[in-house]
Amino acid sequence: MPNIMLTYRCNLNCPYCFANEFVNKQSTDITFDSFLSAVHFITKDGPAFLGLIGGEPTLHKDFKNILRTIIEDRKIKECTVYTNGLELEPYIDEISSPKFRLLVNCNSPETIGEERFAKIAKNLDVLINQRYMRDRINLGVNYYSDDLDCSFIIELLNRFDLHRVRLSLTVPDFSVCDTVSSVAFFRQRKQGLMNLLRRFCDNAIVPYYDCNKPPVCIWTDEEKQWIQEYLDRYGVKESNLLETNSLCYPVIDILPTLEAVRCFGMSSFEKVNICDFDSVTDLASYFLNRVDCEAYRIADCADCQACYYRKTRHCTAGCIGFKSEFIRKANETIDTVLIGNN
Ligand code: SF4
Ligand code: SF4
Repeated sequence: MPNIMLTYRCNLNCPYCFANEFVNKQSTDITFDSFLSAVHFITKDGPAFLGLIGGEPTLHKDFKNILRTIIEDRKIKECTVYTNGLELEPYIDEISSPKFRLLVNCNSPETIGEERFAKIAKNLDVLINQRYMRDRINLGVNYYSDDLDCSFIIELLNRFDLHRVRLSLTVPDFSVCDTVSSVAFFRQRKQGLMNLLRRFCDNAIVPYYDCNKPPVCIWTDEEKQWIQEYLDRYGVKESNLLETNSLCYPVIDILPTLEAVRCFGMSSFEKVNICDFDSVTDLASYFLNRVDCEAYRIADCADCQACYYRKTRHCTAGCIGFKSEFIRKANETIDTVLIGNN
């Protein structure tokens, strides 16, 4: 689903932020005209889903007007607002329209302060219990450190009788770290992740992974069996906790400048202007050609080299950002060979 980034500004400063190439580095907001252009681009092939992201999208000075425009636009099927939940109060009437879903990224009171945490909980209370948005709100938590105490999200979910949570496994900041093996990264974090899953299981909470899914090969047979029993225990038929597909599709995040990136994890790889493409589908195809094809071809480790799941395009070994530099080099080589052939 394509997203429109309304602003680079954020009222928090989360250590794991996926959009850290942009957020709070500049103060640009999208202009209203550019917002309309982005919507037109996304919907010109027919009714479509879209997301609003930031920074913190609610900080955009025209946010109310943007929400009303979306409510009135019949070509937008549904819109998901990705928010930290702090500044929702002025927009309760618009947000509770059936057009919207909310993904509220939650942080602990120790990280953001008790007062802010209480404000978020109050906004959730209004939306869930007074505006009946229960089925259109998902909470999310970012698992960014093995030391992270997730009691806060469990308590929040329990408070609102919610049983699903989006679990984002954050990745290293690829712009500053050396090349890392993703399989080694997942193996290293596996025990902490397993402990977290056990706590969720004890509290009748079944998470689903955001885009960065652990490859199935990191689990032992015993661990796989435990995860399957966990899902069976809560009657969950469809889940990405244990699937063999560790892959992602181009998201298409449109920046305030109307440049687009494949996703934030690959934002430094390449930015293109949406005006150079006829549709979102074409833009996604462009990134599939440039990025995803190579991500399957490039093996993360010796096991991946021979692996059926890589060869049959079921597994890129987690986030493609891990392979960003290799993909860049592969593209440079291909471009050089093609230029040489012309
Ligand atoms: S490459 Fe895939 S897993 Fe990584 S940030 Fe982008 S969409 Fe998410
Ligand atoms: S390609 Fe195969 S060996 Fe490599 S991470 Fe995926 S499942 Fe594991």
